[in-house]
Amino acid sequence: MTYRGRFAPSPTGPLHQGSLVAAVGSYIRAKSQDGIWLVRIEDIDPPREEAGATNSILEALNAHALVSDEPVVFQHQRHDAYRDVLRKLEEDNQLYWCDCTRKSIRATLDDPYGPIVYPGICRDKNLSAEQGRALRIKTGDLLTCFDDQYIGRFEQNLSQETGDFVLLRADGLFSYQLAVVVDDAFQEITEVVRGQDLVDNTPRQLYLQSLLGYPTPAYIHLPLVFNDDGQKLSKQNLAPALDNSKATENICNALKILGYPAEIRNPTQSAAETLQAAIAFERQSPLLIREND
Ligand code: GLU
Repeated sequence: MTYRGRFAPSPTGPLHQGSLVAAVGSYIRAKSQDGIWLVRIEDIDPPREEAGATNSILEALNAHALVSDEPVVFQHQRHDAYRDVLRKLEEDNQLYWCDCTRKSIRATLDDPYGPIVYPGICRDKNLSAEQGRALRIKTGDLLTCFDDQYIGRFEQNLSQETGDFVLLRADGLFSYQLAVVVDDAFQEITEVVRGQDLVDNTPRQLYLQSLLGYPTPAYIHLPLVFNDDGQKLSKQNLAPALDNSKATENICNALKILGYPAEIRNPTQSAAETLQAAIAFERQSPLLIREND
């Protein structure tokens, strides 16, 4: 089976050093397996998106010699597929409408400041579809467990740690969990390589894959990049955009974070040559797979 990997940025801001680690890691891993590497723009949340971010991300990827092997998929063009899947899950009696707000849910929790675990308030209310209502999926009291190839075993009990989660938001937008699962299957992704901030989303995605009869890809959750104040580099923390004129340097920084040795981080080479050196190294001594050591 051909390896198929992907990098799936949300256009909420320009590419930064943190997202570059996921892009570079997923690219090296795919190419070290003689695989296909794809780019998918996860533009399902217009209120959080920044004008021009999609173009600036695609330009930055190009400047860093990270080029999708197939046409870029845009999630804003995939709404029909998401709707079909919701219909199927609804027919299977897996979904219900919910009129709770964040505030009303918090008010029912023992620790109103802790993580929101939805306690199933609307599960048996049989509410009808109405504007302003969300569509949730029922979860069970079962331990979901998977072996991440970078960080090892990860476990989560969905009903205790997330509760029934949202697939269609109250504002009518599709949720990340739904879109990512439908599109990883659509693009026949065999392995997901992304940042560790997403690891606790994976059990929800495995659960959806199992209900939908989709194959489950392998997972690699890579280290995150922190700024000098110890905060994760992210768009929310206003991580600076990558300077495309320093592409090789940026890639070398990403390689350092991923643990590649100094001798392959040669700033005088082109971005493409630097990536090739890392791919050759990864073939000999894999750094992106840790658990099979
Ligand atoms: N779109 C998500 C993000 O930018 C990543 C999704 C994924 O890799 O599963 O954080």
